[in-house]
Amino acid sequence: MFFTFTGYKFTLCKRARQSFALAQDKFLAGQNMAFSSWVSVPRELKYSPMRKYLADRTAKIDASGIRKVFALAAELPDPVNFSIGQPDFDVPEELKEKAIKAIREGFNKYSQTSGDALLQQKISELVRKEIGWQNPALLVTSGVSGGLLLAFLALINPGDEVVIPDPYFVIYKHVPTMLGAKCVYVDSYPQFSLPVDKIAEAITDKTKMIILNSPCNPTGVVYSEQDIKALAEIAAEKDVLILADEIYEKFCYDGRFTSIGNYYEKTLLLRGFSKPYAMTGWRLGFAAAHPCLHDVIEEMTKIQQYTFVCAPTPFQKAAIAALDYDANRFVEQYRTKRDLIYEGLKDKFELIKPGGAFYAFPKAPGGRAAEFVAKAIKNNMLIIPGNVFSEKDTHFRISYATSNEKLQQGVEILRSLA
Ligand code: PMP
Repeated sequence: MFFTFTGYKFTLCKRARQSFALAQDKFLAGQNMAFSSWVSVPRELKYSPMRKYLADRTAKIDASGIRKVFALAAELPDPVNFSIGQPDFDVPEELKEKAIKAIREGFNKYSQTSGDALLQQKISELVRKEIGWQNPALLVTSGVSGGLLLAFLALINPGDEVVIPDPYFVIYKHVPTMLGAKCVYVDSYPQFSLPVDKIAEAITDKTKMIILNSPCNPTGVVYSEQDIKALAEIAAEKDVLILADEIYEKFCYDGRFTSIGNYYEKTLLLRGFSKPYAMTGWRLGFAAAHPCLHDVIEEMTKIQQYTFVCAPTPFQKAAIAALDYDANRFVEQYRTKRDLIYEGLKDKFELIKPGGAFYAFPKAPGGRAAEFVAKAIKNNMLIIPGNVFSEKDTHFRISYATSNEKLQQGVEILRSLA
């Protein structure tokens, strides 16, 4: 029995070691691919016999680098995984019960394309209260990702320019690029505050929109009210739209969150249920706009009709209750995690203190992120290289949405590699 047990244990360890080595090889092979980076087109797809069938737009983008690390995570034995941006807590029980009840009561068919009427009403109240827009135009979407896709489809013509503070969340680059837009990146290194003056300089007569994401993925920075007001003035002066991705709006640790919607009516606001209630798999979000952008929401709704049709119906019922749910205790837990990471790393890495979301974006030693990420993987830890979120590859992203125990372990590993 004893020998069988240890024998079994030995086999497991060997298998784990093999899969670890395999994962490392894959990662390092990826690093050495000719002309490859984490965001270029993989050789095997470029030269695939399937290429002639595939639309040209598929060659403009690569699979998300985050997914690649996620795939590696599946192969590593119990890694310290700082790679994926989703909460480590589960959907609160009472919200789960609402979804189950909705399914049992037969809310399993399509909803209105624009969303469940009661949910729309609740969102409308929220927007009126927080942003001050009376009778906002609304659309319930399949996550903020769904909202982003619909917004880009409704707004972007080939040749349009989209101004994006760099670093940025992955979708802002790849979907507009697929649609033939030119992404104009505005460097916000090394402080990662909103680069207002540089954004003003980047605006041309081709600029369709400026993307604003606060709290920011991947830096965790929350933009100041002063900078947000200044950006609103510039956008008004140049008459460009602001697309405000406020998915992390509840995760602010050092002060109040400011929405640009309070200062600029031509803002398309996107918010979601994935992060504050840990419903990433439920696929729920919403788009809201001042009545002056009513037509934009109208066109997004038209496109939703021909794509997503509607957001998942039973989960929309649960979302009504979610809007009354106080997620503050999760935010408190995440403030502790933020402190753990920041205090644990600040003397060893160049690191801007994150004020929100659940990310930190330290500089890699020597500014060489790919090399540092490969080293981390060798040490059973998963982080994401900066060039997944940036035109540079000097930093790496930590998602601290994991247990405090794993955070301690991760801090130890990172300190030993600094
Ligand atoms: N925007 C940002 C900035 C994000 O980080 C994410 C998820 N990582 C999304 C949008 C998409 O979220 P979802 O589609 O789950 O609402």
